[in-house]
Amino acid sequence: MQGTVSREMAAHKRVALVAHDNKKQDLVRWVVQRCEQLKLHHLYATGTTGTVLSREAGLPITCLLSGPMGGDQQLGALIAEGKIDVLIFFWDPLNAVPHDPDVKALLRLAAVWNIPMATNEATADFLMDCPHMNHKFSVEIPDYAGYLKERT
Ligand code: PGA
Repeated sequence: MQGTVSREMAAHKRVALVAHDNKKQDLVRWVVQRCEQLKLHHLYATGTTGTVLSREAGLPITCLLSGPMGGDQQLGALIAEGKIDVLIFFWDPLNAVPHDPDVKALLRLAAVWNIPMATNEATADFLMDCPHMNHKFSVEIPDYAGYLKERT
């Protein structure tokens, strides 16, 4: 598939937050620091991450299933449907997780659908300090209608 079409993200973004277990406290600290900025957006998270974050940071968060129980796949599906604009994933590069295939699938779909994705804190800071975060922003995404036409 070669064609792309534009998708406009609204100023109010749908931001997905995920942290592996060894990174959850880092994400809590980061979310508390970034609370005022994050309040401007609709937050989604995998089950455990979201439960910890809403308790510790007091932000409204739409919680999906826990990652190992299917939460990463739910997020991937939302990305494919154009319902998530930004992924902040405090990924643990030093420990294996049982749901590694799901994590890989989530990162792959974020790349396929060209959403801004941070997999460490420094990149998350870059994203949050980027002017596009609070304004409309256009991204190129696969031309799915064209893709289907080519294959049928
Ligand atoms: P969790 O899932 O928020 O339920 O811990 C995150 C993950 O994918 O590991």
